[in-house]
Amino acid sequence: MKDIARFLSGFKIFQRTYFCEDNQLFSDLSQAQNPKVLVIACSDSRVDPAILLGVEPGDIFVVRNVANLVPPYETGPGHHGVSAALEYAVKVLAVEHVIVLGHSCCGGIQALMAPDRDGLGEFIAPWVAIAEPALREVSDKLTHKDAPLRQRACEQASVLVSLENLLTFPWLWERVMQGSVYLHGWYFDMRKGELLSYLPETGTFELLVPRCETKV
Ligand SMILES: [Zn+2]
Repeated sequence: MKDIARFLSGFKIFQRTYFCEDNQLFSDLSQAQNPKVLVIACSDSRVDPAILLGVEPGDIFVVRNVANLVPPYETGPGHHGVSAALEYAVKVLAVEHVIVLGHSCCGGIQALMAPDRDGLGEFIAPWVAIAEPALREVSDKLTHKDAPLRQRACEQASVLVSLENLLTFPWLWERVMQGSVYLHGWYFDMRKGELLSYLPETGTFELLVPRCETKV
């Protein structure tokens, strides 16, 4: 109950900021939301995109799931939660940027790499298998490297798998080709506290925001 009480205090702080002191933002947002960015992030408690990116309510449309994965376009039976959110963000909200935000120490990618993945449960194994191409690439190229390095490579390669899968959605592919939507592959390194971005020109993840030089 202690945690729950903390959440109520948290909501009161939020309420004070956005409703008691100045309610203009939510007065506007209650009419309609108009975010221009879709962020696809991991469900991991340490990588909340709103906190990481310092945004206000209404700024980003967010999809979170295990290992920040986008499945390929498919219309068969099933519950396509990511695809539905993507469709809404792209077709209705007309977002201009889609960011796939991967991260270090990802339990989902660890599950993907586990030798006994099928023993992980009913849903985790088939879900993380979306990033199978990333695992194959890392296994081919980095067999002899140590486990942390392979995990990092797999986390980053899985961001690229999601970016590739985004382009299998015909209406998104069309908008990317027209230049009305930009795709971004980002990677949050939680050990160093820095943000990297995939550069198609070099095929590597490069620093977007480096680590702090000194403690503030
Ligand atoms: Zn994760």
